[in-house]
Amino acid sequence: MPYVREILSEGQPTLRKVAKRVDPREIDDPLFQQLIDDMFATMYAAPGVGLAAPQINVAKRVFVMDVHDGEHEPAAVINPKLHLLGEEIELKEGCLSVPGIVGDIVRHERAAVTGLDRYGQRIRIEGDGLLAQCMQHEVDHLDGTLYIDRAKNLRPVAGEEEKETAEA
Ligand code: ZN
Repeated sequence: MPYVREILSEGQPTLRKVAKRVDPREIDDPLFQQLIDDMFATMYAAPGVGLAAPQINVAKRVFVMDVHDGEHEPAAVINPKLHLLGEEIELKEGCLSVPGIVGDIVRHERAAVTGLDRYGQRIRIEGDGLLAQCMQHEVDHLDGTLYIDRAKNLRPVAGEEEKETAEA
């Protein structure tokens, strides 16, 4: 059974580590599959559109996302390599590990990741909008970076803004 794990908040050291690559032989391990199930459960419970393993205190290069855009299925990506595409744009962003805050950050409008899925198969996911933003945000987490490191105009989130800001 998947269970919801605690999401670490800013200040916890795991959020600042460069996460370790996953050995592909580990992917079939039931404990690793459990990790992915728990990451999905934790992301949906939050709720958020993405979650990286360091956010639940596991310093491994894996993230999950579900941006509900009607085009992309929920996905787990292991050992992602990020490809930045398109122009830079300023976007509003929040993070489940920095609750109650939003800020404005420059991201690429389009991005792709290549890596392995939860079955160890090679995958490539490409898109724009929230998907692109989420993939950049999650790979940052795997490198020990939080959006607040370079976001501007950090502010408490409330009301309408809270409803329209996806967290990951
Ligand atoms: Zn985050």
